[in-house]
Amino acid sequence: MTDRREDRDYSASKRDLRRALEHAEARFRSLSRRSVDVAVVVDTDGVLTFTSPAVSRLLGWAEQDMVGRSAFDFIHPDDLEMSRRQFADALARPGAQDPFDLRLMRADGSFVWVEDRITNLLDDPDVAGIVVNFHDITQRKADQEALRRSEARYRSIVETAQEGVWVTDPDGGTVFANQKLADILGRSLDEVYAMTATDAAAEEDRPLVAARLKGRRDSGRDLYEVPVVRPDGETRVVLVSASPLYEDDGRYVGSLGMVTDITERKHAEELLERRALFDELTGLPNRALLHDRLRQALAQREVTEPIAVLFLDLDGFKLVNDSYGHAAGDQLLRQVAARLRSVVRSADTVGRLAGDEFVILCPGSSHTDAQTLATRAARVLAPQFDLGAVATHVSASIGIVEVTPGQDAHAVIAAADTAMLEAKRRGGGGHVTFDQQVAANASLRLRQIDDLQRGIDAAEFILHYQPLVQLAVGRGRGRVVATEALVRWEHPERGLLGPAEFIPTAERSGLIGPLGEAILHSACRQAAEWASALDAPPCVAVNLSARQLGSDGMVRTVQSALHESGLDPGLLRLEVTETTVMEDVGRTARIMRDLRALGISLSIDDFGTGYSSLAYLTRLPLDELKIDREFIAGVTAGGEDLEVVRAIVAMARALGLRVVAEGVETPAQADSVTRLGCDLGQGFHYARPQPADAITALIRTTGAE
Ligand code: C2E
Ligand code: MG
Ligand code: MG
Repeated sequence: MTDRREDRDYSASKRDLRRALEHAEARFRSLSRRSVDVAVVVDTDGVLTFTSPAVSRLLGWAEQDMVGRSAFDFIHPDDLEMSRRQFADALARPGAQDPFDLRLMRADGSFVWVEDRITNLLDDPDVAGIVVNFHDITQRKADQEALRRSEARYRSIVETAQEGVWVTDPDGGTVFANQKLADILGRSLDEVYAMTATDAAAEEDRPLVAARLKGRRDSGRDLYEVPVVRPDGETRVVLVSASPLYEDDGRYVGSLGMVTDITERKHAEELLERRALFDELTGLPNRALLHDRLRQALAQREVTEPIAVLFLDLDGFKLVNDSYGHAAGDQLLRQVAARLRSVVRSADTVGRLAGDEFVILCPGSSHTDAQTLATRAARVLAPQFDLGAVATHVSASIGIVEVTPGQDAHAVIAAADTAMLEAKRRGGGGHVTFDQQVAANASLRLRQIDDLQRGIDAAEFILHYQPLVQLAVGRGRGRVVATEALVRWEHPERGLLGPAEFIPTAERSGLIGPLGEAILHSACRQAAEWASALDAPPCVAVNLSARQLGSDGMVRTVQSALHESGLDPGLLRLEVTETTVMEDVGRTARIMRDLRALGISLSIDDFGTGYSSLAYLTRLPLDELKIDREFIAGVTAGGEDLEVVRAIVAMARALGLRVVAEGVETPAQADSVTRLGCDLGQGFHYARPQPADAITALIRTTGAE
C-alpha cells in the first residue's frame, strides 16, 4: 500500500511539477511574446537556438527562418568585426557584458539600429547558452544624428566666423576656441586650448583681463579693447564682446568672448588723427594741435606763471626752395624741425604753422627763459644744413610773446607773429619780444599800408632825378649822360618823404606793383620829353625792387611803358640791386634777358654789398655796375676800400661793363674815382636829386665841357 501511495504521491508530485513547469513556460512565452525587449539565444558557435517573438516583429523574419542560422548572418557588414569581438569577449567571461550598438538586417533588406547586451549563461544549467538582448534605438540614433548635424552646422558657422570665438571657464581656461581666434592670437589651436584668456594679454594688461573674467558673472555683458601679444612679439589690438554663460540650472560656467582683430582699424584711426593734428613733412604738431595746446595752457587758470610763445620764421627759406628745389626745401624744414626739437624741454611743444613758420610753446616760462630759448634756437640753427647735393645756412627771425592764462590763443599767435615780423624788419636772425612798441609799430605799418594805397590813388608820388656825369677825361667830361629817377612822396601831412620811408612797406604789402608801374610810366614819359627837347638826351635809370623783378608781368609792364611814351628803349635803363638778383639768380637772369631783348640796358645797383661771388656776373646780361656808396666814402682814405674799387673796376673792364661811382660827395672822391677809371660819377658832389625841370636846365647849361 505504502508503495502505491508512494507511487501515487510520486506521480502526483511529478504531475504538479510538470504543470508548474508548463505554467512557467507559458508565462515566459507570453511574457516574451509581449515584451518589447527582444532576446535571442545562441550557442558557442553563434548559431541561433531561440528567438523571441519580438525579434520577428522587429526584423520581419519568422522564427523558423532564424533558428539554426548564424546570428552573424543578420549583422550589418560594417558592424560584423566589432560584433565578433564582443561575442568572443562574452564567451570568455560569464555574466553580462557592456552594451554596444549595431545594425541588424531586416527581412526586407533594410537595417535597424539596436542596442545590444550579451549575457554569457553557459554555466547556467537552465539556459546553457549565450543570451543576447537588444532593443530598437532607431529614434535615439536619429536624434544623435540630428544633434551631430546641428553641431556640425554650428561648428562650421563658428569656424567660418570672421570673429574669434572663445569660450572660457570661470578661470579663463579655454573650453572652446575656433581657428579664427587661433589666427588672431598667432597660435595653434592646441596652444589656445592650453592657455587662459589672461595669458593672451600684454603683461601690464593681465590684471585687467583677469578682473574682467572674474567679474563677468556679476557685470554681465562687456565690450572692451585690449592689446594681445603674439608669441612672435607682435601686438594686435582686439575688441572683445563678452557675455557670461550659465547652465540650464542657472550655474555660472564661464564666459563667451567674440574677439575681433581691430589692429588695422585702430591704425587707420590713429593715422587719420595724426594727419589731422600733425604736420606730415616734419611730424611736428600742426596749426590745429598747436592752437589746441595753447588754448589748454591758457585755460589753466590756476597757473599764474607766464606762458612763452616763440614764433620762428626762417630767413631766406624761399631762396633755398627756389635755387635748390622743393625737395631740398623739404629736407631743410625737416632738419630745422629736428634741431628745434632738440633744444626744448619735454613740456614744451614745437609745431609747424605753415611753410617755414614754426612755433614753440613753453608753459611756465619766465621772460629770461624765453629769451634764452630763442638764443639756443638761433644757435642750434647756425651750423650748416646738409641737403644732400648742396649745403646751406639759414637763420630764423624769432618773435616772443609772454602771456598769462586767460588770453585768446589766436591773439597770442598773432602777437608772436607781429614780434617775428619786427625781428625780420630789423634784418632777421634775431629775436624780438612783443611789447607796446612792437604793437604800435605793427599797427603803424598797417596804417601805413592804408596810407600808401591812398597816396597811390591820389597820385602823390613824384620823381626826382639825379644826374650821372661822365668822368672820362677828354671830350664830354662832366656831361650829364644819364639821370636816375628817385621816387618821393609828397605826403599831405608828413611832407616830402624819401623812398626809405615807404618802399619797404610797399614791397611787403605788394603795393610796389602799382607804385612801380606808375613810376616806370612817369619816368619813360619824362625821358621821352627830354629826348624830344634836348640835343643829347640823357638815359633815364629806374630802380626795380626784388618783388617787381620777380613778377611775371614785368616784361609786359616795361613794354607798355615804352609803347605808351614812345621812348627809344636805348634811353631806358633798369637798376636792380645785387641782393635782389641773388635771391634767385636763374629766374632773374631769364627775366633780365627778356628785358634786355626789348633794347633797354641793365644795371647792378649797390654793387659790393651783397655776398655775391663775382663769377655769377658773367651769367647776367648786364651793361653797368654801380659801386656802392660805402666804398666810395672810404676810397680817399686808401686801404681796403680803395683796393675793392680798383678790383671792381678791373673786373668790370674784363666783362665789358660800364662802372658808376655812387655817392660821390667831395672833390677828392671825384678825383679818386676818376683816376681809378670809373666811367660815370653820381653824387651830391655833382648834383642832388631834383625835379625834372631843374635837370633840364642843368643839362642845358652844362652840356659838354
Ligand atoms: P639807390 O638806387 O642807390 O639811389 C641812390 C640813393 O643815394 C638815393 O637815395 C640818392 O638820393 C642817394 N644819394 C645820391 N648821391 C648821394 C651822395 O652823394 N651822398 C649820399 N649820402 N646819398 C646820395 P634815395 O633817393 O633816398 O633812394 C634810396 C633808395 O631807394 C635807392 O637807392 C633805391 O634803391 C630806392 N629807390 C629810389 N627810388 C626808387 C623807385 O622808384 N623804385 C624803387 N623800387 N626803389 C627806389
Ligand atoms: Mg639806384
Ligand atoms: Mg645805389
